[in-house]
Amino acid sequence: MSNLMSGSPATDTVMQVKQSLQSNAKRAYEIRLQTGNGGNLSGRIPGTDLIIIKASGCSFEQCQPDKLITVTLDGVQIDGDGSPSQELATHLAIYKQRPDVQGIFHSHSPWAIACAKLNDTIPTVTLHAKSKLGRIPVLRLSGATAQATAAAVEAMLTADRDLCAFVQDRHGIFSLASTIELARYHAELVEETAQIAWSMALLEGVASNRERDA
Ligand SMILES: [Zn+2]
Repeated sequence: MSNLMSGSPATDTVMQVKQSLQSNAKRAYEIRLQTGNGGNLSGRIPGTDLIIIKASGCSFEQCQPDKLITVTLDGVQIDGDGSPSQELATHLAIYKQRPDVQGIFHSHSPWAIACAKLNDTIPTVTLHAKSKLGRIPVLRLSGATAQATAAAVEAMLTADRDLCAFVQDRHGIFSLASTIELARYHAELVEETAQIAWSMALLEGVASNRERDA
């Protein structure tokens, strides 16, 4: 694949986006927000309709600049070796619906996935989560294709224009923000919130059983 051609964004700008993607992927791996080679993240090159996304098959730990792929909003690959993440269609659906979004983070985080099983929204049980994230809907899909997923994401974002995170059922967190770093913070907060919500529900169950057995 050839490099970005003349008339493309400044090299420094592209490198800044790639460095931000690399550092946020590394951080997410270190704190075990995403282990193995799952998950992905992307960033918009400022002032353009070009997106840089992690390559398919590499872990967050391995997410170096040479593992990052540049695509257009229509999904045409214009730079980078390998293939973009298999979840490119979801990222592009978000960028198309939300011009304010500059970064997207996606992880297969266990508490959020577990919490999504029993709830239509992740309960924002802390004041912090409520103020920073607002509503965190669970996206349940009838079709499994990339096109079906993109269409469902598009419909969800149209219905709620302030959305900054959602959890796809049996899959994981998608968070979106004005920077890649903020998108990662949102994902961390979703996972933390889901863990607290689960813990509170368990404790409430224990208390309720005690009352019943008393
Ligand atoms: Zn995924």
